[in-house]
Amino acid sequence: MTTTSIPRGKYHIWTVGCQMNLADSQRIQTMLDELGWEEASMEQANLVVLNTCSVRQAPEEKAHNLLAQLRRAKDQRDDLLVALMGCMIGNQKTIDTLGKRYPHIDLFMKVEQADILPQFLEERWTPISGAGCLDIDFLPESSAHEVEFETAFDAMVATPTPLIQPTFATSTNRIGKRTVLPMAITPKPGDRIAHYPTKIEPAQASPSAWLPIVLGCNKVCTYCIVPYRRGRERSRPMDELMIEARSLVAKGAKELTLLGQTVEAYGLDLPDTPDLADLMTNLSEINGLSRIRFMTSYPRHMTDSMIERMAHLPKVCEHLNIPVQSGDNDMLKRMKRGYSLEEYVERIERVRELWPDITLSTDIIVGFCGETEAEFQHTLDLLEKIRFDVVHVAAYSVRPGTVAARWEDDVPLAEKKRRLHAVEEVQARIALELNQSYVGKVEEVMVEDINVSRGHRQLKGRNRANKLVFCPEPDTSVSQKVFQPGDFVQVRIERATAWSLQSDTVAVEMAL
Ligand code: SF4
Repeated sequence: MTTTSIPRGKYHIWTVGCQMNLADSQRIQTMLDELGWEEASMEQANLVVLNTCSVRQAPEEKAHNLLAQLRRAKDQRDDLLVALMGCMIGNQKTIDTLGKRYPHIDLFMKVEQADILPQFLEERWTPISGAGCLDIDFLPESSAHEVEFETAFDAMVATPTPLIQPTFATSTNRIGKRTVLPMAITPKPGDRIAHYPTKIEPAQASPSAWLPIVLGCNKVCTYCIVPYRRGRERSRPMDELMIEARSLVAKGAKELTLLGQTVEAYGLDLPDTPDLADLMTNLSEINGLSRIRFMTSYPRHMTDSMIERMAHLPKVCEHLNIPVQSGDNDMLKRMKRGYSLEEYVERIERVRELWPDITLSTDIIVGFCGETEAEFQHTLDLLEKIRFDVVHVAAYSVRPGTVAARWEDDVPLAEKKRRLHAVEEVQARIALELNQSYVGKVEEVMVEDINVSRGHRQLKGRNRANKLVFCPEPDTSVSQKVFQPGDFVQVRIERATAWSLQSDTVAVEMAL
């Protein structure tokens, strides 16, 4: 990696979407910091990275708005580069379409390909001349690398693979021709293993750090754009994850959340097929790591053996985020979720048998194509039956490019809102009842933040079951300690709402 020849500039990373995107942005930030770039506001930045999400309409619209603003900014500034990553970029066709609509995008990139950043910046960032793009004189008409690249690209197209080439966009206004830069192709055509570039991890880990372990998704839920944009499942090799996890802990992480769209698919594509529990067993050996979380779960990948082994690992926290999306079998078929209601319920019951302390959260979509009142009622029935701790509910909105986009979006918006509120109402009651069962118990809490209001400091954290807990900071003159994120305390729960648990005093400060 060449770093010394790149002059310093300022960067801004804009991130929307899930934890996976936040984790990816942290890694891009590390690379830019290591290159000597400085973080700045979007207005001041020389490189703006938009890390996008296509799962819902609103974040995608925001990205389009920002791209329009950045086009205007680029018309007035020669020292601005724009990079796009995340769910909005998918295959070469998507890139071509976006490139035509937004010719001012300089780089399309997936996080696995972030090791092209140094080269990209070296080629495009020339602050001495005040130009954000490489001078045309620097570009050879054709080169051996270009031929190599195109040959490899042809091979890639001939060998279907969801992974795209890192793409330096055409910048016809400044460069005047399509640019293909000499570069290693990462990953190679047909390569199904997801390697993050070396050293790409957060420069500073917060007490709660994310560790993406499996990228992409092999499911084809009819409403979902993720598989088209993130490609097929690719697990990161175990040794790479262990190195990164150790490094995150050395930098201050006490809790790691293992991320994947269907996280139990970890290892299915690796030699020797290690599973999620094998990975957790190895991670548990890391000194200084206190908690391991994981998300998002998929019922058909959760074997009994996996659940049993996870349940017996003391560092693995008792919480499962397992989206069901609907409580009706016909809806599940239309959504192509890959399981029946009975199979889902059987998995939950089995998990509760094997891991009695487990708490559950789920995702629900209301108003999906053709959802009848009776089908919606089955979802409410399921909430009553399972009694999830947390439900994330969303009204269906069409995602262009998905199978369901070809179907009629026939549930009126007002009805979708009514169903959404009905789910919220049922869930608020259930969550309150479940949370009240914590009153009087002593819970281990990892402090995540300190809220300060009217001179009073309040500790905010989570117990092992992922419940949000608030507690006033003990009088520092008595405790002789100023608390900070990453501290562990034991608190007695005094009150509960549907959304959090509250304590009045810290019972014990823990040395974890
Ligand atoms: S499991 Fe379904 S909803 Fe989840 S990312 Fe994959 S395709 Fe999308």
